[in-house]
Amino acid sequence: MTAFIKVHNPANGEFIQEVPISTQDEIKKAIIKGHGSFKSWSKVNAHERSRLLREWAQKIQEQKEDIAVLMTKENGKPLCESLGEVDYATSYIDWYAEEAKRIYGRTIPASTESKRIIVSRVPVGLVAAITPWNFPAAMMTRKAAPALAAGCTFIVKPAEETPLTSIKLIELAHEVGFPMDVIQYVNGDGKSVGELFTSSPYVRKITFTGSTPVGKSLIKNSSDTIKHVTMELGGHAPLIVAEDADIDLAVQQTIATKFRNAGQTCVCANRLIVHESIVETYSSKLIHAVSQLKVGNGLEKTTDIGPIINEKGFNKIVSQIKNAVDQGAEVMIGNHFDASSEDGYFFVYPTVLKNVNSSMTIMQEETFGPVAPIISFNKLEEAIEIANSTPYGLAAYFFTNDYRTGTYLTEHLDFGIIGWNDGAPSGAHVPFGGMKESGLGREGGPEGIESYLETKYLSIGNL
Ligand code: ADP
Repeated sequence: MTAFIKVHNPANGEFIQEVPISTQDEIKKAIIKGHGSFKSWSKVNAHERSRLLREWAQKIQEQKEDIAVLMTKENGKPLCESLGEVDYATSYIDWYAEEAKRIYGRTIPASTESKRIIVSRVPVGLVAAITPWNFPAAMMTRKAAPALAAGCTFIVKPAEETPLTSIKLIELAHEVGFPMDVIQYVNGDGKSVGELFTSSPYVRKITFTGSTPVGKSLIKNSSDTIKHVTMELGGHAPLIVAEDADIDLAVQQTIATKFRNAGQTCVCANRLIVHESIVETYSSKLIHAVSQLKVGNGLEKTTDIGPIINEKGFNKIVSQIKNAVDQGAEVMIGNHFDASSEDGYFFVYPTVLKNVNSSMTIMQEETFGPVAPIISFNKLEEAIEIANSTPYGLAAYFFTNDYRTGTYLTEHLDFGIIGWNDGAPSGAHVPFGGMKESGLGREGGPEGIESYLETKYLSIGNL
């Protein structure tokens, strides 16, 4: 009997749609098809691959509103954020449609007259992707677009919470002419699909966005068949506000980076580290801005903060706030919830905490919620010490108008992405990814296609 994933709207628990869970047999067949179609797809010329990608991007844009509504229904994020995500997702397809035509090799001067040396770049093979629920469109296209551009074939397993947007996008890819076996999806729970992906010798690359523990297990399980891996894992972003910062800009950008998607992104600021001389002014301006944020169903036009994706995520956020308050943190605003396990909705009102310290769990673990803990510092070395004291190294932000302070912070922060007076540094044209336990490899920009390519070196002798 077919089993189903039932997709619900996290804002009210409403049932949206069910999708069949792929059987082991179906997943194995999908892998074989993806492997089989690689032979022909990798030979399709780059201009044709580019043309198909551009048509896919255009088709997505034509249906932007419908896709955004579907995304808000399954994920909960405000509709304006979903519209923004459809653009963001499309921008990766556009960018890699261009990169497809620029996969250059090189010739190397030989050490004898009788030889010629040519280095070419070839696609790695079948790519299997596992994606999270927080960006149901963009985390898929950020992987699919460079894979297809490079000449790889692609299978994705979207998150169980939000499979509908990915399925819709893949249907549109087929509509514009991508062969069915070149881009596919399967549905199921992460562990069992992940094991089928990692154990298959046909899958040559695993690309994953999600939590660090799952990323570690995928890396381990990929070692038996020596797969390529790209891992975009957890974060614990510091946001430093220096003594000379433009406080209004810092507050405005803190709101953008902390509260978008209800704080449920791996690059959301997780720790606000503010110079002691301005901490009162910054805090009171931040609280005022936070008080204007409206919590609710993402389909309502006025909503700024949607629901938390599920009860597990909600419980983690609530326990971090409780742990901080129990250890002496002061609630400046928030610490207020509207949740019903029975009806299946979980809202956390935006919360600002003061007097936090490094021993609180919120200062050590990723929150994935709309909670902003403020800690103050005196010397820049102290801010760096706090910022770097985490196994994560994805994104960091700082605000200063002093070039010496900015240069010092840039050079001492151990993070893959740094926003200087900028709370929104990501884009299709830039390398997104983390250091330390935040991952391996980069997505976006020229770096983002590199990891879908192998190097093949040819030596022609006896000339
Ligand atoms: P979160 O807890 O935020 O959902 P996860 O890392 O658990 O983050 O999930 C991200 C993606 O990883 C989802 O598609 C999920 O199904 C998948 N996943 C979860 N556990 C595993 C696993 N053990 N192996 C492979 N994929 C997994």
